Amino acid sequence: MMHSNLIDGEWIDGDDVVRNINPSDTNDVIGDYARASAEDAKAAIAAAKAAFPAWSRSGILERHAILRKTADEILARKDELGRLLSREEGKTLAEGIGETVRAGQIFDFFAGEALRLAGEVIPSVRPGIGVEITREPVGVVGIITPWNFPIAIPAWKIAPALCYGNTIVFKPAELVPGCSWAIVDILVRAGLPKGVLNLVMGKGSVVGQAMLDSPDIQAITFTGSTGTGKRVALASVEHNRKYQLEMGGKNPFVVLDDADLTVAVEAAVNSAFFSTGQRCTASSRVIVTEGIHDRFVQAMGERMKGLVIDDALKAGTHIGPVVDQSQLKQDTDYIAIGKQEGAKLAFGGELLKRDTPGFYLQPALFTEATNQMRISQEEIFGPVASVIRVKDYDEALAVANDTPFGLSSGIATTSLKHATHFKRNAEAGMVMVNLPTAGVDFHVPFGGRKGSSHGSREQGRYAAEFYTTVKAAYTLT
Ligand code: ADP
Repeated sequence: MMHSNLIDGEWIDGDDVVRNINPSDTNDVIGDYARASAEDAKAAIAAAKAAFPAWSRSGILERHAILRKTADEILARKDELGRLLSREEGKTLAEGIGETVRAGQIFDFFAGEALRLAGEVIPSVRPGIGVEITREPVGVVGIITPWNFPIAIPAWKIAPALCYGNTIVFKPAELVPGCSWAIVDILVRAGLPKGVLNLVMGKGSVVGQAMLDSPDIQAITFTGSTGTGKRVALASVEHNRKYQLEMGGKNPFVVLDDADLTVAVEAAVNSAFFSTGQRCTASSRVIVTEGIHDRFVQAMGERMKGLVIDDALKAGTHIGPVVDQSQLKQDTDYIAIGKQEGAKLAFGGELLKRDTPGFYLQPALFTEATNQMRISQEEIFGPVASVIRVKDYDEALAVANDTPFGLSSGIATTSLKHATHFKRNAEAGMVMVNLPTAGVDFHVPFGGRKGSSHGSREQGRYAAEFYTTVKAAYTLT
């Protein structure tokens, strides 16, 4: 079946087609997806612009109902959509279903928020004048998403954009168009008026670039690589538009001498390897104090031996394949770089053969790494982590913060003093104590600092900051 783009309420075929392939089994074709052109992107932007005046003044009950219906359908179809997600992205079925549920919960949350829109009335410093502070939608929002969370990231951008009265041009990642197409189809059937949400699947360099270059997009929310994020920023400055970036991470996970070893190992394995390490909140630097170092490394090795790496859809699989050939090459290149730099490959790192042709890589753990090595400074985005040995907590904190990124930061400790100090002093947008660096709630602000992020937070009530603009109105009373 051909999956078309949606422009101004019409499903439109592209000039070209992208074939969606299963990374667990490259013989398995999920479907064909239309590839939009730059002209299609322009038409989508024009449609969103034309739909904005009416949608921005639409009733909150209408918005609530559409978001609510969407949430209900996503949740009702969680097994089917979760399976589609795992089939196109390669994370395990449990992870795929979990992510789908999260997307449903996000729509449910913003369905509620639509009914809670509010402003402030405050006294003026001048007698006889009233002041009202309200939030208005920003306009046409461009949404550009990556491949690693095919349903949650589109959901956490589309739901607030609609809730606050914006219209949308949405460009998902080329590798995983399936979940995005499914969400758009659901939203349309839930009653979204034409032109409010436009789907343009296609190349970043063509469709994405046409969005960056358009003066008719008032805000762009982007999740993806640092390099593309910079392009989004530069183009947005050019057009004086609002922009929000979520980019890479090189998240530290600190293990202190006083940690509960089981808690530390579970959290480290989850942080580094679950979802095949393809999460911007994954930890690829495990910073371990010397008193627990050897015991920790041994326990990690034991735990890693028990991991089942196989077809994402098979029962019992813990870790699915890498998303595609080029990401697999990046992972194995970094494994080679780590060896050259003098780190010791203590476990894993081998390509694996399974029943079906896919991009299977055994999770890799380096030891004897330093924080200066490229494997400790650059984002690998695969199941590759390094252990960095440090003397004590102070050195651990310094190493944790010695990175250009600042998304998530974790610590395993039983010390209240160290946990408290770490929460205050980790240079990151999110801090996890005795928990994996990845795995966040759908109603809590998400985002980072330093090279990881730019702009206000996503998710929860903090999303209003990006998707609205504040107006102050003064009235002579
Ligand atoms: P990743 O390495 O995670 O795929 P990218 O930054 O390449 O990260 O991709 C994230 C999203 O940005 C994708 O939807 C991609 O198509 C899009 N993209 C890539 N290049 C551009 C560009 N020049 N302009 C706008 N979007 C782009």
